[in-house]
Amino acid sequence: MLNGAQDLGFGFLFCNFAAIFMRSIQDIYPQLRQPREVVITMHQKPDADAMGSSLGLFHLLRLLGHAVTVISPTNWAYWLNWMQGSNQVLDYELHTANCDQLLEAAEWLFCLDFNDFSRTRKMAGKLESLSCTKILIDHHQQPNRDRFTYGISDTAKSSTCEMVYDQILAAGLGDKINIPIAECLYAGTMADTGSFRFPSATASVHRMVADLKDRGIDHTRIHENLFDNFLENRLRFIGHVLLNRLDVYYEYNTALITVPWKDLVKYQIKTGDTEGLVNYPLSIQGIKLAALIVDRDEEIKCSFRSKGNFDVNTFARANFEGGGHVNAAGGRSRDTLEHTVQRFIKAMKENASQLQ
Ligand code: 5GP
Ligand code: MN
Repeated sequence: MLNGAQDLGFGFLFCNFAAIFMRSIQDIYPQLRQPREVVITMHQKPDADAMGSSLGLFHLLRLLGHAVTVISPTNWAYWLNWMQGSNQVLDYELHTANCDQLLEAAEWLFCLDFNDFSRTRKMAGKLESLSCTKILIDHHQQPNRDRFTYGISDTAKSSTCEMVYDQILAAGLGDKINIPIAECLYAGTMADTGSFRFPSATASVHRMVADLKDRGIDHTRIHENLFDNFLENRLRFIGHVLLNRLDVYYEYNTALITVPWKDLVKYQIKTGDTEGLVNYPLSIQGIKLAALIVDRDEEIKCSFRSKGNFDVNTFARANFEGGGHVNAAGGRSRDTLEHTVQRFIKAMKENASQLQ
């Protein structure tokens, strides 16, 4: 009787404790070999890291016998479709009812490359409402830990793909890494490290690359798949934008590209076509902050990149409902394009001391 009451008390406390504090991802390793219904999801408009980490984990969990579905909150760039398994990824906005059923049936929900449900757009409410086990693997700043049962958040990591690789090895499953898994994980790591040039491309990233090479990946082909796989109109669009839509504020070591909706229409720009654009101004001598503000009609999307200490995660959070990493972050605005640009210029001036 006494024991029962104690158990109840302890169990109750433990459940609440677990709901408040995310438990270590290592605690799920012993459970990995028991097949489950699994959904893996990622942030909206997934990039190579989000898609690569999700598909890498998808292939691994399938090999372990789980029933796995990958759901993207939105559509994604056509140049990710070379990744094996991408043809099985469901777009939540296109298949909402089917995705909702799969989410309700899921025993495990893996959340990769994002750390707050708001990053999943129309899927956010559904994810909040699920009572299944939620597992986070992510490297963005300021995670919303209390939403996850298990997980790992490491802002020092180059990419979620690197983290998935680390977890596979730590769980003793290294022998399962086949070519599809290796290709997906390599691609996301390459993309998030700027082809291994950012400070996040640590010695352990290069050791991982060496290991994936030993396993037989063709890194030249993966690079071509990601970076030489666009349509002509995207290149012409970039030429137009760099010529006509770029403003440089040398006094603040800042450059801004502003893209009106009519440009996206004229050049038939699709999801993923503006990715990487924000990096171009960083190649100008002395530029510390580069911004891209795009009128996507449904919303104004902002991207920020920096060199050195200027923290664009803080900048995006403070001014544009966003976040991300110290040197790469995103956000949005509900204002008009003109007002958003004015707000950006004001915020840039307020940060003059850090930019000059
Ligand atoms: P991008 O400018 O390419 O959309 O995003 C740059 C980085 O910031 C990516 O790692 C992306 O996942 C992250 N990011 C973009 N928007 C947001 C946001 O609204 N919140 C957070 N926390 N991260 C974001
Ligand atoms: Mn990432």
